[in-house]
Amino acid sequence: MKLRWPFGRHRRPQEWAATRRLEGMAYDVEKTDEEWRAELSPQEYQVLRQAGTERAFTGEYTDTETTGIYRCKACQAKLFESDTKFHSGCGWPSFYQPLSDTIEYIDDSTMGMKRTEVRCANCGSHLGHVFPDGYGTPTGDRYCINSISLTLEPVDPA
Ligand SMILES: [Zn+2]
Repeated sequence: MKLRWPFGRHRRPQEWAATRRLEGMAYDVEKTDEEWRAELSPQEYQVLRQAGTERAFTGEYTDTETTGIYRCKACQAKLFESDTKFHSGCGWPSFYQPLSDTIEYIDDSTMGMKRTEVRCANCGSHLGHVFPDGYGTPTGDRYCINSISLTLEPVDPA
């Protein structure tokens, strides 16, 4: 499901959550801005709740190959599996496919580009963007995700 902004401007997760509530489509996890600020570090808050971007090649999981499940840092929903992660060279963790129904897609025309933003479908927090340039992957997509938006839960291979 691709949700589109009702107005021609980009809105931060908290504003978008309010719009969804009015439409009877509240997220499963809803918190006030004050609650998010209290739970998240300033850096996490800036990316997850203000749709910021961590600097390339600085994130914890950029080149991680550990087997496991990547969860939303804000609400712990399962988002990606490590076997869909690939080395894109772009400086952020890259996946070619999310777990089903865990992501919502929002048109983003900020910064003079037409992009598709991806957010956690459980709490509405910002994760990153998806680009159709995952060359050589099974889907051809590249989900370019901020490390700081994720928590890796390692799976014991035994
Ligand atoms: Zn979430």
